[in-house]
Amino acid sequence: MARDLLIQNARVIDGSGSEPIEHGSVLVEGGRISSVGTIDAVSAANRTDLRKLDATGLTVMTGMVDCHFHGVYQDVTCWEDYDLRRSIEHATILAARNAQTLLEVGFTSARDTGTRGMVGIAVRDMINEGVLVGPRLLAGGQIITTTGGLADGYGSWIDNRASLGRVVDGIEEVVKAVREQVKYGAETVKLEASGTGISPYSDSRKQTMTVEEMAAAVKEAHRNGVRVACHAQATESIKNAVRAGVDTVEHGSFLDEEGTELMRQAATVLVPTISVLDLYVTRGPDVGVPQWIVEKFQGDLVEHRQSVKMALDAGIPMAVGSDSGHAFNPQSEIAYELEMMVDAGFTPMQAIESATRIGAEVIGWENEIGQLSPGMFADLLVVDGNPLEDVRMLRDPARLVSVYKDGALAGGRAAPRREELELGYELAPRPASAEPDESDAIERPCCLKTSEELEH
Ligand SMILES: [Zn+2]
Repeated sequence: MARDLLIQNARVIDGSGSEPIEHGSVLVEGGRISSVGTIDAVSAANRTDLRKLDATGLTVMTGMVDCHFHGVYQDVTCWEDYDLRRSIEHATILAARNAQTLLEVGFTSARDTGTRGMVGIAVRDMINEGVLVGPRLLAGGQIITTTGGLADGYGSWIDNRASLGRVVDGIEEVVKAVREQVKYGAETVKLEASGTGISPYSDSRKQTMTVEEMAAAVKEAHRNGVRVACHAQATESIKNAVRAGVDTVEHGSFLDEEGTELMRQAATVLVPTISVLDLYVTRGPDVGVPQWIVEKFQGDLVEHRQSVKMALDAGIPMAVGSDSGHAFNPQSEIAYELEMMVDAGFTPMQAIESATRIGAEVIGWENEIGQLSPGMFADLLVVDGNPLEDVRMLRDPARLVSVYKDGALAGGRAAPRREELELGYELAPRPASAEPDESDAIERPCCLKTSEELEH
């Protein structure tokens, strides 16, 4: 357990949406927040053993939540990159590294919305056991898909036993797939109601799973206390997903007024994933995404943005989801989604609430994380500047001073050095003039390199 911590004189954004506290303080005791308020209101006078941080000019906010994370995605440009080019063993190691990256860049919690085999569950368990470093992870299994649907990527002549999709048809098979995932420890189920641009056998306007199949999956998942995320882009697929009772609609590209009203009545959360759709089109061609895929996404973009605006105007709660791990949206840059939200009409405060309080509600941990209030886990970010003036700083490694999970330093530019992590205690600071030791540089294996690095 890290030593208790007092952060003083910071701008405090508590995640509730209320005005920030200027010259505020946050006291962390036993890995949880024990007090938040103005510098005078938070007293730790009787504590002499605290770590103290003078945060003048800095902002403290709660750690962010990525509600649409795929640990196994790495440098993807086409369907085969998801689950054919690398062994599941490679994918497992990459998923562990990607989870750690999330934490290091300020996402202290995440929901895995589709993995190969049970990789997401294994990564979650290893993080919880302290074997791996990573965010709090709500883990799921494979994407439950229909024949020819979103995640049915190959012809029947290819037997891929380590695939991203679990192909089912009919109520019995859907229910069986949910039960299997629950059996092995899934806490969230991912369904598909429509295809998408990268799917070889479907597209974003094609409805795939029926409302009856989805309703059966939802019933079985909820009976087991498991939530359901549903990929839905086609207009009717969004409505059917809501009618079936899913907890979140992922993407929601072609929303109409009836769909918006259904979501409002059912209190369904939208995870709009604006950045992934945008980057498929704007960066995809430069990183090797085939033209036919770029064109499919290009056709969706204008309507997708209109749908987000419609949802925003209707007051539909929206959460941050990155869908990262493609060659154009590495996990290290996922805070870009907040920029895209602001670009789509959110205020910076609304985008931050989507990344914190609403994200916590999506994963069902609203009493533990997502707001800075007494009793919550001390998952905190310290940022150099004011993200309410410019939300882009949340993506800038130079501005992310520190990331804490359970009150322990886990990322940001103040993150502990590698040798400190191994030793388990802090070393004396290096003299300012000292050049980093060459031996500190870790040569990354090929499978962890981006396509850009491999070219050089
Ligand atoms: Zn996804």
